[in-house]
Amino acid sequence: MEIINGKTLAQEIREKLKIECDELKIKGIKPKLAVIMVGEDKASKVYVKNKSKACNEIGIEFEEHLLSADITQDELISLIKKLNTDSTIHGILLQSPIPKNLDINEAFRTITPEKDVDGFNPINVGKLCLNQDTFVSCTPYGIMKMFEKYNIDLEGKDVVIIGRSNIVGKPLIQCCLNKNATVTVCHSKTKNLKEHTKNADVLIVAIGKPKFVTEDMVKENAVIIDVGINRGEDGKLTGDVDFENVSKKASYITPVPGGVGPMTIAMLMNNVIKASSN
Ligand code: NAD
Repeated sequence: MEIINGKTLAQEIREKLKIECDELKIKGIKPKLAVIMVGEDKASKVYVKNKSKACNEIGIEFEEHLLSADITQDELISLIKKLNTDSTIHGILLQSPIPKNLDINEAFRTITPEKDVDGFNPINVGKLCLNQDTFVSCTPYGIMKMFEKYNIDLEGKDVVIIGRSNIVGKPLIQCCLNKNATVTVCHSKTKNLKEHTKNADVLIVAIGKPKFVTEDMVKENAVIIDVGINRGEDGKLTGDVDFENVSKKASYITPVPGGVGPMTIAMLMNNVIKASSN
């Protein structure tokens, strides 16, 4: 069994990006990311802080727009439109969740596809479906980079994804299909979940329930990717997979923390450098 070390791989990627960022600066381009956060979500604050730290390390400029929870839809949209036309900004990211009274779909739609470093604009989602060059959303993209690094070829493999969110599960379907895998997507309404997971050569779990996937649900020698981030009362992070027992059966497995999480931020940085280079 081999542990997929997302932390080390993310660091390698960040070092490469730092060189690319320096090269862009020599050409007179100063990569810059604008992040919009609405309201006071505790987890979002941590994510935004980590993104700002990563930008700093690579040399990407970082601009934060902290909006109060009672802003109107029009105010949010007009800020996005302003950032769209600001030539010093290369990437725009709207941190989710945002308050429920705001329409996040309209907001994502408004971010110009060329600056949509999270890959949530429907045009970029469509391009991913068509296997065209685009901004791939960061968590699925990070997972695909892990497969690449560890020489895990998806062609002809049975990939089972648990979770169908717009940010993880759905884009992952396309990413794995584009690599010629046979993809099954399971979710909260799936009957006999175990029947599906037991068949998986590669099992990707993005649910948000600590230690949900147990040893009896996985096939011998399966590759296990744990996307889940669950924070216990003691502040400790746990994945969606019972790592201790499932790892005994797996051929490869990602830990939490130190697996998918660091890769997500590295791929965001990758997308900002890509947006700055275009
Ligand atoms: P979500 O919270 O939007 O949705 C959860 C998904 O799990 C849904 O599709 C639902 O159908 C499915 N689900 C829930 N209960 C289930 C059950 N009993 N059986 C089968 N399916 C079930 O999902 P999300 O935003 O993709 O987040 C999932 C987890 O991944 C969370 O823990 C989140 O914190 C984490 N996450 C991590 C990263 C990262 O960088 N590592 C990025 C995004 C999300």
